[in-house]
Amino acid sequence: MESNTIRLEQADKRFLWHPFTQQQAWEAEPQLIIERAKGCYLFDSKGRPYLDGVSSLWVNVHGHNHPALNAALQAQLQKVAHTTFLGLTHPPAIELAQRLATVTPGQLTRVFYSDTGAAAVEIALKMALQYWQQCPDPQPQKQRFFSLANAYHGDTVGAMSVGQIDLYRQAYAALLFSPVHADPGIPCSCPLSCTRHGVPCIHEVERIIAAHHRELAAMIVEPLVQGAAGIRVYPAGYTRALWELAKQYHLLFIVDEVATGFGKTGRLFACEHEGIEPDIMALGKGITGGYLPLAATLTTEEIYRAFLGPERTFYHGHTYTGNPLCCAVALANLALFEQEHTLDRLQSRIDQLGQGLRQLATLPGVVATRQCGIMAGIELQTSPEQPHPERPVLQEARRRGILLRPLGNVLVVMPPLVISEQEMTFLLNTLSIILADRNGV
Ligand SMILES: *Cc1c(COP(=O)(O)O)cnc(C)c1O
Repeated sequence: MESNTIRLEQADKRFLWHPFTQQQAWEAEPQLIIERAKGCYLFDSKGRPYLDGVSSLWVNVHGHNHPALNAALQAQLQKVAHTTFLGLTHPPAIELAQRLATVTPGQLTRVFYSDTGAAAVEIALKMALQYWQQCPDPQPQKQRFFSLANAYHGDTVGAMSVGQIDLYRQAYAALLFSPVHADPGIPCSCPLSCTRHGVPCIHEVERIIAAHHRELAAMIVEPLVQGAAGIRVYPAGYTRALWELAKQYHLLFIVDEVATGFGKTGRLFACEHEGIEPDIMALGKGITGGYLPLAATLTTEEIYRAFLGPERTFYHGHTYTGNPLCCAVALANLALFEQEHTLDRLQSRIDQLGQGLRQLATLPGVVATRQCGIMAGIELQTSPEQPHPERPVLQEARRRGILLRPLGNVLVVMPPLVISEQEMTFLLNTLSIILADRNGV
């Protein structure tokens, strides 16, 4: 077993190129090979368990290797693994669309499938653009998009274009179209006190939209919290204020719930917290409970109807659009929320996480802690001597049996929704010990 591990690790470093990874560092350091998983634990090729502290990059919901999800997948496998969705349809895709239309907020009634969050965003952008060309009162000059400072919407060209994290875009700037975006803005004293939370003041957003609304097709927003920006939580009411601005100035409101969807904020969808009814919603990540790549873009009947008629076709599709295995497991994922009362049980874990974060926030070297539901960020102090304070912390966490992945100097904690009280205690205590042990570095 040991020799097999060594062989595999060497082959990885010889043949693979990992996402969002500096390969020079990857090749230089020992790496884990995950062979199996159960519940909230991953097991490496040496049989060592690790708590999955970021739910396998924000996707896992009900735990790994769940009997109900396994059974749904196996049952579908006995029928058909894949059949095209171009010109044909199949039961799991139909049933899932009906379920999604029921459980999502507002008037979302139409489901367009794809396979990654970025694709769901691209589809949302293309839909919005074409809608303004074909709606009853066409406004073809509406061709641009509004997005927020620090936004992240995925890594394909359109999704990168509306993204605002320079690190992820600068090398590809020549490929990108330019959205209208809000700068973090001047400090303000409005009731939302926006800029204190690192998001643009709502008045600054309004100023930009008032100036550009005639050319704006849509506003795209991560509701409640910007995940990739380092778990930056908006002030209460901010997402709703954005939605109201979009309505006031006749922009479509696209919510990117790729990260926040499927329970991460404590409700099934983040929009529910502020009574928001989006025109278009992008879903991904947790949609299959963390099993298979599936994404969906939902929209309203009003937008859908603008695509009915000759020469009004929506020209988008992927070879694996609506894959039956993905849809079957997504259906089982949704059913589990009801069968296991996942969101009711989650509430006490969210409270526990909040208490733990308040304690962590008092430790030296911790600049701030932020939380939205089961999503949390612990921002560490950087200095010229220690530009990457998160690295030794994560190494030590791994040594103690917890896997986390940071965003820059922010430690992210986002376990599966079904993390137990004991597991959460282990996670928080371990971080507390490690951070307290750093001698204030
Ligand atoms: C992860 C993420 C995406 C991109 O999803 P992929 O499946 O990685 O393409 C888009 N938007 C948000 C808010 C995300 O967190």
